[in-house]
Amino acid sequence: MQIVGLTGGIGSGKSTVARLFGDLGVHWVDADDVAREVVEPGTPALARIAEHFGEGILTAEGALDRGQLRTIVFQEPEERAWLESLLHPIIREELIRQLHPDNYQLPYVLLVSPLLLETDQHELVDRIVVIDVPTDVQIERTMARDTNSQEQVERIIAAQMPREQRLARADAIIDNNRPLDEVARQVRELHERLLVDFG
Ligand code: ATP
Repeated sequence: MQIVGLTGGIGSGKSTVARLFGDLGVHWVDADDVAREVVEPGTPALARIAEHFGEGILTAEGALDRGQLRTIVFQEPEERAWLESLLHPIIREELIRQLHPDNYQLPYVLLVSPLLLETDQHELVDRIVVIDVPTDVQIERTMARDTNSQEQVERIIAAQMPREQRLARADAIIDNNRPLDEVARQVRELHERLLVDFG
């Protein structure tokens, strides 16, 4: 089983492009989903977090209060480092588990991750596919989808890997500044190429 990493900045179209691959029968694992799963109530990671930050980091229902955690790690770099050293290995193990089931029909599976290149997740993949849009389109689409201000979106983009640096790491690029049917065509072509490469 080969693993193809799909990455791009916020609002670049990772979920949209993953669904287009899904239309072709390709399975994917979403690193954001896995990052949420490993801190669900009852998990060892959530217990460690509550031990470290106190029970106040939990909601009344016992779930992780993400807003509060974000505020803490945004203000305190050493707490961010602590959290990352706890979660990154756990997320990685869970990704590996989900990426290697024995029931896939196709020779490859996708790992969809905003932090593919920023973390050691890129070590898990055989190919890197970057979804590319100009920064102004990225801002426009993210603002249209979420309730973030332009300033918030720009701050998130500034904290992510710069566009040129990401593109330099790509084995293949999907230009998502196009109508969806044209993006679907690019996805079909890439899929065919991957089937030949991995066949
Ligand atoms: P995030 O990093 O925030 O999870 P993402 O990279 O998964 O985002 P999407 O959610 O797929 O990005 O896309 C962002 C927004 O842009 C969505 O509202 C989506 O419908 C829209 N969008 C994606 N691709 C296109 C396109 N080719 N044309 C028009 N709109 C698009």
